[in-house]
Amino acid sequence: MALWKSIGNGTLEGVSRVADLDASKLTITLSESLKPIPPHETLLFGKTMSDHMLVAEFDPEIGWSAPRIVPHGPLSIDPASSCIQYGNTVFEGMKAYIGSDGEPRLFRPDMNMARLARSAERMALPPFNTDQVLALIRQLITIDRRWIPLFTGYSLYVRPTIMGTRMGLAVAPSDHATLCIMLSPVGPYFRSGVKPISALAVSETVRAWPGGTGGHKVALNYSPGFLPLRVAQKQGYEQILWLLGDDLKVTEAGAMNVFVAVKREDGDIDLLTPPLDGTILPGVTRDSVLALGKAHTAGETTLPDIPASLRLHVQERIITIPDLQQWHAGGKLLEAFGAGTAVVIASIGKIGFKGEDIVFAEHEGGLGPIAKAFRTRILDIQEGREVWKNWSVPVAEL
Ligand SMILES: *Cc1c(COP(=O)(O)O)cnc(C)c1O
Repeated sequence: MALWKSIGNGTLEGVSRVADLDASKLTITLSESLKPIPPHETLLFGKTMSDHMLVAEFDPEIGWSAPRIVPHGPLSIDPASSCIQYGNTVFEGMKAYIGSDGEPRLFRPDMNMARLARSAERMALPPFNTDQVLALIRQLITIDRRWIPLFTGYSLYVRPTIMGTRMGLAVAPSDHATLCIMLSPVGPYFRSGVKPISALAVSETVRAWPGGTGGHKVALNYSPGFLPLRVAQKQGYEQILWLLGDDLKVTEAGAMNVFVAVKREDGDIDLLTPPLDGTILPGVTRDSVLALGKAHTAGETTLPDIPASLRLHVQERIITIPDLQQWHAGGKLLEAFGAGTAVVIASIGKIGFKGEDIVFAEHEGGLGPIAKAFRTRILDIQEGREVWKNWSVPVAEL
């Protein structure tokens, strides 16, 4: 019955036998009553949904159905569905911004699409043409364009989701799937504005492990972290710094990639982040920090308020808790920050481990100078005030 097979680039093998996702077959049913848009300052992350969503289903005999834009609302799913019983849901998180030219834009959407295809493949979900997903996102954003907030630091969060909808309790891959894309207007991830995060370093529970799924954006990576997060929050920390292994390797903070800035003997700065060894989610923001840091040091750009002469030695390398303790004791640990689409960049102000805290220097505005430079530059690119490579893509061109 296996009529379809991934050929790795997200398109279907044997498309002649089953239909690939096709944005030209889109049907649109507009909502009869458009919702009022709440005042932007009241927005909580991911709580408010726009008027419409996109839905398409995959059936192994037919392939992908004609995609539909319909009013946002509940899906009807059998409780015996694979995604409910076995958690084979994958997702993406991207943001649409209105540039100074009034055009909606996405930030490096090709990277999100490549990752969505990899996540779906890892969960043995059917493949799909990622260009068609982008074309559908364009249509959805165009229809719900009034939901893109116009304030800096605000955006329309785009959440493509694919779930296994095979009905039946057998522990087996799902040959049915539903693609759903929803939109949610969001403001700064932390409501109190940009302030440093406190993180409790945890080694008893792990987020990801070698050979596991930590390098993919799959739903089952997140819920096991909820209980440890609640415990950490009871101890007064906002996030978890996930460790791995007997050497206490630092992996990620919550659902953010982690960077640390360390002062070198020669006065330059080492900017370090763990390597993509399968336990680290390959973040788009992470990749952007690495690329911009390298560009600064190569003289191709100058990061805001960082002297051009200050070299950032960008390295993907293992960072352990003993490393952090040693750098901190030697007065070399300048900054730590998290990077991800939702927060963009957030400074880490405190790391707790076994009853002791590593406390970072406080900075006005809640961001250290390096974190601030990257945050400012990335937001400038995302919101269209600066052009860098082809990172900010007008939605109309998708
Ligand atoms: C999504 C995510 C990130 C950040 O990735 P971006 O592409 O920068 O948004 C980092 N870590 C985890 C675990 C994530 O799920």
